[in-house]
Amino acid sequence: MGFNIAIDGPAGAGKSTIAKKVAEKLNFIYIDTGAMYRAMGVYFSRNHTDLSDENAVKEACRTVDVHLTYDQGVQQIWMNGENVSQVIRTKEAGNMASACAAVPAVREKLVELQKKLAETSNVVMDGRDIGTVVLPNADVKVYLTASVDVRAERRCKEYQEKGLNAVLEDVKKEVAQRDYNDMHRAVSPLCQAPDAILVDTSDMNIEQAADAILKLVPSVH
Ligand code: C5P
Repeated sequence: MGFNIAIDGPAGAGKSTIAKKVAEKLNFIYIDTGAMYRAMGVYFSRNHTDLSDENAVKEACRTVDVHLTYDQGVQQIWMNGENVSQVIRTKEAGNMASACAAVPAVREKLVELQKKLAETSNVVMDGRDIGTVVLPNADVKVYLTASVDVRAERRCKEYQEKGLNAVLEDVKKEVAQRDYNDMHRAVSPLCQAPDAILVDTSDMNIEQAADAILKLVPSVH
């Protein structure tokens, strides 16, 4: 069994940047589970799959191959032989990810894959249900959050840096909607595990947030 660090929290809290930094400092593998839901979202979107059609979704889950590789420590996500690491980073892919993440068959497939990855390796895994469902026995659990305003500003900057059109007010609505969807879905809604430590990054930079998590890892004290 590897040493497992679970990081959950809403969109834009800085999970992936901070989790990546923590993994780098500890020489652990970083696993971005959102990327897996995004890859499934891209598949469903390209195939015009009706997410309310249980059989179609189940069949897709049975046949689609989603897996991760690492290129010089950077996670690459593959969907049916195609490297979709860039394609999944659009607003549309994020929304499709959120929609398909509410479907039980999709979660079953990805949770199984995530559990396997953490079994034998030291990992920092981020997502929405890592401390609650995927790794309930994780050695360290963190619930990373920030105010909606701060998270929307960060997301907006991210989009603009990628050359995408983004208006702060729209991104704020999008972030709030994603929070609502993730926190209110019937299966594995986003919530803080009772034994997770709350880290609010509203007034922290990446280094400070990473340090707050590293302090929770016994050997780093
Ligand atoms: O973190 P990211 O924005 O890439 O995640 C995209 C969407 O995938 C989230 O809004 C959420 O609906 C879903 N997700 C999930 N469980 C995870 C990771 C992501 O439901 N462990």
